Amino acid sequence: MRWEHLLCKQQDRTFPARCPFCDREIERPQEIEDDQWYEFEGGRCPCGAVFAFDPTARNGGAVLLQAMVYACSGDWDWATSMGRDEDYLEARIEHYDSHTHQVGAEGAFGTIYFIRLIPRA
Ligand SMILES: [Zn+2]
Repeated sequence: MRWEHLLCKQQDRTFPARCPFCDREIERPQEIEDDQWYEFEGGRCPCGAVFAFDPTARNGGAVLLQAMVYACSGDWDWATSMGRDEDYLEARIEHYDSHTHQVGAEGAFGTIYFIRLIPRA
């Protein structure tokens, strides 16, 4: 309700970055500390989704791939063999500004890519 209100009535306003899968506000993307080396900043949502942040809007594919590898606990073979909408869901937030941690600002061109694995039956 609040979300739609914001979209309709206040297009010139920014709003907090939220997970597309569960609508929780996400934490600011940060360096991922893990066994695997990750190039882009990212994070994890309590719902199980992971995200990676592309500050330039130019790295698209690489950032998306990183999010997939991160979702697969660093397993590249697993990540690259997954099928979209079969093994995982993909979503993104565009117009994200990492300085304010808000979405929708004019001139904000960061993109956050989200991946959520689909549990295997
Ligand atoms: Zn979530």
